[in-house]
Amino acid sequence: MGMRRFAYVANAVAARSGKLEKVALIAEYLRELDDPDLQAAARFFTGNPFAARDQRSLNIGARAIVSAAKRAWGFTDAALSGRYRETGDLGAALGPLARPGTDLSLFGAETLTPALLDGLFMQIAGASGKNAGKTREAILERILRACSDPLEATYVIKIVTGDLRIGLREGLIHDAIAAAFERTHREIHRAIMASGDAGEVAVAAKHHRLDEIHVAYGSPIGFMLASPIPFGESYRELDGEAWFVEDKYDGIRAQAHVDGGIVTLYSRNFNEVTHSYPEIAEALRSQRHRLILDGEIIASRDGKALPFRILQARLQRKEIDPSLLEGVPLQYVVFDAIAIDDEFLIDEPLAERRRRLAGVLLPNERIVTAPFDTLDAGAEGTAINERFGAARERGNEGLMLKRVDAPYVPGRRGKWWLKLKKELSTLDVVVVAVEWGHGKRAKMLSDYTFAVQDGEGNLLTIGKAYTGLTDAEIGELTTWFLAHPLRPEDATRRRFEVEPAIVLEVAFDIVQRSDLHQSGYALRFPRIVRVRDDKPVSQIDTVADVDAIYAAMLEREGL
Ligand code: AMP
Repeated sequence: MGMRRFAYVANAVAARSGKLEKVALIAEYLRELDDPDLQAAARFFTGNPFAARDQRSLNIGARAIVSAAKRAWGFTDAALSGRYRETGDLGAALGPLARPGTDLSLFGAETLTPALLDGLFMQIAGASGKNAGKTREAILERILRACSDPLEATYVIKIVTGDLRIGLREGLIHDAIAAAFERTHREIHRAIMASGDAGEVAVAAKHHRLDEIHVAYGSPIGFMLASPIPFGESYRELDGEAWFVEDKYDGIRAQAHVDGGIVTLYSRNFNEVTHSYPEIAEALRSQRHRLILDGEIIASRDGKALPFRILQARLQRKEIDPSLLEGVPLQYVVFDAIAIDDEFLIDEPLAERRRRLAGVLLPNERIVTAPFDTLDAGAEGTAINERFGAARERGNEGLMLKRVDAPYVPGRRGKWWLKLKKELSTLDVVVVAVEWGHGKRAKMLSDYTFAVQDGEGNLLTIGKAYTGLTDAEIGELTTWFLAHPLRPEDATRRRFEVEPAIVLEVAFDIVQRSDLHQSGYALRFPRIVRVRDDKPVSQIDTVADVDAIYAAMLEREGL
């Protein structure tokens, strides 16, 4: 069963709009495949040539793809550029230029199957040395020559570029594997989260061997996120549930994978950051169990957290010299356990995860568990605010309230975790436009228009801020903004739009309805708390978060 069939199924999936139809098409296809093809095809449907846990990449850019395709099929630049402009998708643009005349002679096979393609991708990823680029291109050229028709070529290239564009959200391939082999979505989702490989899980599901799927240490898992609630006199948000309360640490979120002597730390962008925190990695090495931990790295001295800017100074250094290690003493404050040995804990309630964590984590000078209290049912606002004050005394930012029965929900911001910060609240926003300042800031881009996101990835403006950053920070940002206007021709204007990439945390006292901004809201007294280099734009706060803060504020004021 060749890649041709994969391509036809993918194309049929793209043509349907209904979720169930898409899932049924893929499920039926997956059932047809033998194990090696199933493993590869299930991975390819995630849009990637490799399993999520696999750190390898093909390392083939658009230019190399085009030149391999040209050698395989011979076409003019003009033929390609028109099509590319129309589709914006290299697979869709190049595929139709494929020439029939399949040549598989070099592979000793009759058809290009998913399994064969998978093996060739491994060869591409494994190319090394001086001529690696040439080797990669040559293998790709052979792959393209082995495509039997334009549609097959289209989808092979889409997989190489890492995006199928067939309207298949990640959850749907989980649904399809579940439907193909009569499993629940939850079983499949959990196994894929644990192993980081949809292909391996599909084969295991087919043979009733899901219980043999192991936790993949060294493959980061999505971070669970919190929703903001505003500071007040009472907290309706907590009604009717049991909650843990912990300090909200103002540091850097980190997921630690401890696998015997191998320790890997990931930032919330899934970058590996182990080298930035050598002393934390070292301090985790002596753990007796294999662990995936969630926590916050903070600077701390004598039991008190130091301000974020002290940590930040350390982060800006590429090389960590020993004096920095002493000057900025770091701690990893662990607040969750995602896996212990071969047990994947995301479906366990928080209370159980914390209990298990306390039983296995060996604390030391640098590794501590975040202390937590249980809130009494119907806890008074004053009790929470006292707890808030105590957290601030310890140098922390505020409180986290976590439902005792919360599962660990990777990559989601929900109501299981709530964060209570200082001002009315703060929002994480992205700068969309900038303006030259006045007076002593006349030579700096110091006035920022910022936006939150709606549910669909659109950015909607909500306010403007001028204060909160130091001149040095504004100076650096000015350089960046000048280099990243949204439209180059606008960069000479007094105010211009910029690429949405700089995430700021802004504090404010009041949120009002307003037609002034696209979000329908405006903030009173917004001030910039800090630049959030640690947060990708996809994770900034949403209009729904603002709705919630607004509703809670009105309620508190008795309106
Ligand atoms: P935010 O980054 O503002 O969305 O707030 C959530 C962040 O608070 C998480 O990403 C963590 O980096 C941080 N955080 C600090 N303390 C805790 C805690 N005790 N539990 C969970 N997250 C925490």
